[in-house]
Amino acid sequence: EDHLKVRKMKKKIMRKQLRAQHTLMRHEGIECVSHATQSLVIANAGLGNGMNRKQLLKTVEEYGLVEALLMPPNKPYSFVKYGSTEEAKKAFDALNGKELMLGDSGQNVVLYSNFVEKVFWKNAVPTNLPPGLTVIEKVVSPEEERRMLESIDWIGDEDAQNAQKTLKHRKVKHFGYEFRYDNNNVDKDKPLPGGLPEICSLFLEKCLKQGYIKHKPDQLTVNQYEPGQGIPPHIDTHSAFEDEIISLSLGAEIVMDFKHPDGHTVAVLLPRCSLLVMSGESRYLWTHGITPRKYDIIQASELGQKVGTITADVGDLTLNQRKTRTSFTFRKVRRSPCNCIYPSVCDSQKGQQRQVQPLFPHNEMEASELEQEYVHKVYEEIATHFSSTRHSPWPRIVEFLRSLPEGSIVADVGCGNGKYLGINKDLYMIGCDRSKNLVDICGEKNFQAFVGDALSVPMRSGSCDACISIAVIHHFSTAERRLAALRELARLLRPGGTALIYVWAMEQEYKNQKSKYLKEKHGNKDKEEEISSGMAQRLPGDQMPESSSQDSACTDQPLDNSKDKGCGAKPVADCRLPVHTNRTSFHSQDLLVPWHLKGGTKKRGESVETVLFPAGSKESQGPSPVFHRYYHVFCEGELEAACRSLDGVRVQKSYYDQGNWCVVLEKL
Ligand SMILES: [Zn+2]
Repeated sequence: EDHLKVRKMKKKIMRKQLRAQHTLMRHEGIECVSHATQSLVIANAGLGNGMNRKQLLKTVEEYGLVEALLMPPNKPYSFVKYGSTEEAKKAFDALNGKELMLGDSGQNVVLYSNFVEKVFWKNAVPTNLPPGLTVIEKVVSPEEERRMLESIDWIGDEDAQNAQKTLKHRKVKHFGYEFRYDNNNVDKDKPLPGGLPEICSLFLEKCLKQGYIKHKPDQLTVNQYEPGQGIPPHIDTHSAFEDEIISLSLGAEIVMDFKHPDGHTVAVLLPRCSLLVMSGESRYLWTHGITPRKYDIIQASELGQKVGTITADVGDLTLNQRKTRTSFTFRKVRRSPCNCIYPSVCDSQKGQQRQVQPLFPHNEMEASELEQEYVHKVYEEIATHFSSTRHSPWPRIVEFLRSLPEGSIVADVGCGNGKYLGINKDLYMIGCDRSKNLVDICGEKNFQAFVGDALSVPMRSGSCDACISIAVIHHFSTAERRLAALRELARLLRPGGTALIYVWAMEQEYKNQKSKYLKEKHGNKDKEEEISSGMAQRLPGDQMPESSSQDSACTDQPLDNSKDKGCGAKPVADCRLPVHTNRTSFHSQDLLVPWHLKGGTKKRGESVETVLFPAGSKESQGPSPVFHRYYHVFCEGELEAACRSLDGVRVQKSYYDQGNWCVVLEKL
């Protein structure tokens, strides 16, 4: 009977191991193999399900020499690489179905192991602190820390006006002015009696002297967080407080999460006795919050000593148990409305940001200003999110790049996040883009790219064997500028060199085929095309005319550029640029296309069976900001005609590809 039991048990473990294998493949793209290798993936042994690095290392080292142990953040699995296949096999047999208690939690997990060909994780991208944010270590001594903590009487004055409040269980106390959570503001006419605690004066003097702050704060909020407690992501109300906000961390270290409206998140370790200074962008534009959890993921080697961002060096992450942390946050109450440069998040400037759509440009200056505002600035702001939606290269562009001879020098003018820079390793590819943020993303991928304008690329004439210009020229707002951009591509080419040019087509339905762009109207997310979500977007503002009346108002305008004619497009001439409704056909050749910034990408299937505590809290989802990019969509024949008007080149090929007009130019 015992024998039967053991067999049943073994079968159960095998079943679960297989299930873990499938889950890893389906949700994480991790492919397990059936033959023995040096490396294992171990389900339920991840930071995401409460395993800490020390404990796991101890366990896996029992079976041999561990060459690498990777613990990806928030994942319920880890990778281990042994010195030999034999050792890995030993571990595989022993770890499958092994029950392990998580630390001293009293909770058990069952591990399931599978072989993988390689231990891998995407390269860690070193993250910078949000602009305007600094963390200064050891600003108070242990003695000062003790006295400051003792000065807060959490129990004594429960009936007093500034009595402690328990907000989502964290303890809060206000001095100087009370911060009201009902309207997220302070009563500026009702200062609290007593002002700031005496003990803070010395500290604030020091901050002023050291230049950490410019103005003496007059408001203090003391928060006490027990392990498991947190604060939802928020921006301190602009109209309530001045620019600089400083926060002292006492009693214990904690990880604070900062998030840009484009979804980019930076986790910052605030060591015990350190001072966080938020100013400028980090104070006005980024949200900050503390995820309610009992452990933080931190760099193992930085524990307790190093400040700054927690990069995803998965070979060095561990869990750090939280302890009681008390923060002293000092602010200066604002006496006049906020006039920051972030109107989209500024309560003082609400209602003032009614944008009027820009006019169609009439001269070079207006065109350049329009592109600055509605192309360059927007790409700079949406760079991270934009890049996250640009993975899969278009097949015919890949085909072009693969067809070039080995050793060719190729310029990608308007390279964006560099998705074509690595397609063919036999080429020397150089990217250039107007957006610094996008060029930085290329740099993170180790591509050669620089910031530059497609109208004057800083490269010698005739220096390239080939060029590509993908989805770039439609962002120029006059026919002259579009032509100049084409001429610049031709200039870069050596005789016999070729340029591949893609622009967005007015015709999103061609030869009775709907383009991908139209078809994906109700398609799934994470798609490779222009716009990630959403339907009609109008700019806020009452001045916006109905699109129909707007269009008809324009039809009588003379069209000064005959090249733009030919596909029934209505010119915008003296009108304001219409805002396009995403995933519909175009009604105007010149238009604004909305881009919806989504807050962070959703995480799918983060668990392999048991996950003992959630890795991240659900974040409050504010309305996502909308940006508008200027486009000139090309009619059939328009791109080709423009190319033919250039001297010294010939059109080798001209075709339509998934909603784009495409030309291959050859330099004569
Ligand atoms: Zn503001």
